[in-house]
Formats: sequence, C-alpha cells, structure tokens
Amino acid sequence: MSVLPLIVHLDADAFFVSCELSVRPELRGTKCAVGGRERGIISSASYEARACGVYTPMPTKLALKVCPDLILLPHTSGIYSKKSREMFDRCESVTPLVQRNSIDEGYLDLGPCGFKTAAEIERRMRALQQQLWDELQIPTSFGIASNKLVSAIASKARKPKGFTVVPPGQEAAFLAPLKISVIPGVGKKSEERLAAAGIRLVSDLFTRSEGDLKALFGSAWSEMLEMARGEDDRPVETDHEDAKSYSVQETFGQDISDFAEIECIAKRMIDELMPAIRADGKRVKTMTVKVRYPGMENSTAGRSLTEATDLEAPFYPLVRTLLPAAWTKRRPLRLVSVRFSGVEEKGAQLEMFAQTDEKKRRLAAVLDKLNDQGKKGVVRHGHQLGKTEDHGLHG
Ligand SMILES: [Mg+2]
Repeated sequence: MSVLPLIVHLDADAFFVSCELSVRPELRGTKCAVGGRERGIISSASYEARACGVYTPMPTKLALKVCPDLILLPHTSGIYSKKSREMFDRCESVTPLVQRNSIDEGYLDLGPCGFKTAAEIERRMRALQQQLWDELQIPTSFGIASNKLVSAIASKARKPKGFTVVPPGQEAAFLAPLKISVIPGVGKKSEERLAAAGIRLVSDLFTRSEGDLKALFGSAWSEMLEMARGEDDRPVETDHEDAKSYSVQETFGQDISDFAEIECIAKRMIDELMPAIRADGKRVKTMTVKVRYPGMENSTAGRSLTEATDLEAPFYPLVRTLLPAAWTKRRPLRLVSVRFSGVEEKGAQLEMFAQTDEKKRRLAAVLDKLNDQGKKGVVRHGHQLGKTEDHGLHG
C-alpha cells in the first residue's frame, strides 16, 4: 500500500441545481430544485430545500406539498453535460488518470503527479476544489484516501463543500463508527435486515462470528468484511479507452419502482448526451439502457437504429422497448444509465436522411448554442423537437 493517499473521489454538490445557480446566482440560499412540473420528479434539490424535506427522486407534486415555497427550475438541456465536461477537464489538468463515474462524480489517481507528501496533495486538491468553485461555480466535496472505496465514502462524509482525507492505514478506523449503509450494496432493505440482527455500524460486523456473517451475507461475507476494513484494489479506469461511446448514469437516493419515472429519467439522459455528440461532430447508432437493482446486480438491453443520428427524437421510442427489456425483474431500481455507441463521423449518413433531418438539426444547433450561453427561457425537454410526444404510461 502506498504511504500517500493518492486516490481522490470528487462529487459535485446538488449538481443540477448548482449548474442552474451558476447562471442565476440570485437564487443562491433559496429552497430550489430542478424538476418537471407535470407528473415530474425532482432530480436535484438545493441543501435549503433538502432541509425542508425535499429529496431526490421525489415526485414534484409531493415536493411542493412538503415545501410549498419551493422554487421549481425546469431542466435545461445541455448545460449539465457542458459543466460536467468543464469540471473533468480541470481534473485532467491535474492528472491524466481520471475516471468519470457519472455526470457529476468521478475518481482521480494522483499516482503520476509525483507528490512527495500528503500535505502537498491536500494543498493541490484544495486548490482544485476552489478552482471549480471560482471558475464554474460548482461546489464539490472531496474524499482523499488510498483507494476508491474509502475515498468515495470520505467524499460523502461531509457535504456540501466537504474535504476529507483518510491517511493510509486509517481506513478501518475511519469506517468503523459509520453506518453500515456506507458500504456499497447495502441499501435500505439490507440496512433494515442488518439492524434487526443488531448490525448498525460498520464496526458491528467484527463482533460477529463467521457463521453469523455467512448466514447474513451468504457467499459475499468475506467481501463484506474486506470492504468493512476499507480494503479495495480496483484501479481508477480512465475514459480514454472508451472514447467511442457517450454515457451517463444516475444512482438514486431511494430505489425507484415506477416505470414512468424511470422512462422520464432515461429520456432526460438522451437530452443530456445528444448536445455533446453534436458538439463533437459525431452521430450515434446504438442505444443501451442499463439498470441496476439494489445489491449491484445489472441488466442491459440495447438496440441500433438503421442510420446513425445526432438527434434526440429517434431514440425516444427506443426507451419504451429497451427499458422493459432490461428491467425484467419486478424489483425497484437503484441505478439507470443510457449509453450511445456506434459512433460515426458526421457526413457518413445517407443523403436522403440528411435532407429530412437538416431542419431539425439546425434548430437543435441553435438551441444548443443558446443553452450554452445560459440564456434562460429556452428549455427543450427534447420532446418538443421531434414528432415524438412524451406519452407517459398513464397517458
Ligand atoms: Mg453529486
């Protein structure tokens, strides 16, 4: 094990809201949230709104009930992925080893940076945190440790604008007093089950016999103990090898079982990714939807269009087929992701398709530009662009 804490987990605080506040600073300090009004859900809430009982994902209707003076901000297409890119660009100016985990959080491996002391690392990372705030107005929380597991838990230890360093050798001591739910894969249900067995804190695991642990965790018991000790040897995986796809994923604060909600989120992800694809001058052909159940079990489904495109609308109908194809078990979901692959350079498309799509593409380009400039009032929920309506399940 390295004597230096070289793995950083960086997590933006209330990311979507922070993006909106970066262009509307007058709303800072208010109870506000990003979410759809009509049968929508809250996708990000300010800390002031959270203190009032608003969480994500929560139906907007309910959020307005628990917090009647909540300021509801519509989802602005394009700005989140742009901010995200800007955020990770600054990380990559520190180290080439950056793993984007989702739109607003990822890992840095400081191994190549040549730092000599932990104090040096801390100074550099505090400077990065400050830079993200000064230049992008994005508040972030940092966790710094010897591995991914502990750094990810550390970044959540204090929020917002947290900064937690776990010195190498202190991993187990850091985790011991924390709630067992900090261990990846321990969701609400398992937390309750473990509490019933008297296990509430990470340290409680060590008071149990091997037999008890086997009864509780089955074959995963030894892995559970390893995590509880803060052991993890997964490498930080850079995105460079996977430049041939565009993806975004979202882990829910609370498992979701409503199809219409997940469908909304997946469509929003299409809206998030497509401006980046257009900005890169690319087109994509294949969409893959991945779902994850509590307990880290994944399932995916993908399908290709006949022609690559850089427009949102052709992919909306696929959500309707791919989501049920991936979500086969009647269990709530912990995470959903959308990935586009089959990336082609612009110009590879057949002329006759190009002709009919050209108008829409020009309109999309104009909207991207306006959104980039942070001009408000131009809100595209994607569904306005094409003929596809947002026909929900109850519609
Ligand atoms: Mg975050």
